[in-house]
Amino acid sequence: MLTQQNTPTCQQCGKPVKGRIDKRFCDDYCRNAYNNSIKTQVSKTVKTINATLLKNRKVLEAMLPPADDTAKTTRDRLLKQGFNFSYHTHVYTTKTGKSYVYCYDYGYLPLDNDWFLLVRTKDER
Ligand SMILES: [Zn+2]
Repeated sequence: MLTQQNTPTCQQCGKPVKGRIDKRFCDDYCRNAYNNSIKTQVSKTVKTINATLLKNRKVLEAMLPPADDTAKTTRDRLLKQGFNFSYHTHVYTTKTGKSYVYCYDYGYLPLDNDWFLLVRTKDER
């Protein structure tokens, strides 16, 4: 039996692809299925990150009373509420070199001994 080492295989189903050497899929069905699975994976990843960021924002919002501009809390309290320090939307560094870490319009500034200063972006309206 002849083994064809160089026969390309379909990236979707793994079957040998007949035809042009640069063909990556058996047919349109396999190409579409492959592209859709990538899209699904991307949107799953994005959804997970967005949910984590929104959860972080919710935690910060709950700890910063609407009447106050700032509040203080600890790393433990944030973690207990489900805060995930791996995710944030942006970092704002002041002229004095302090880096505020933001999840959308809510942010925190790490202080000494695992304390955090919570802040809210001022509504410009
Ligand atoms: Zn295929």
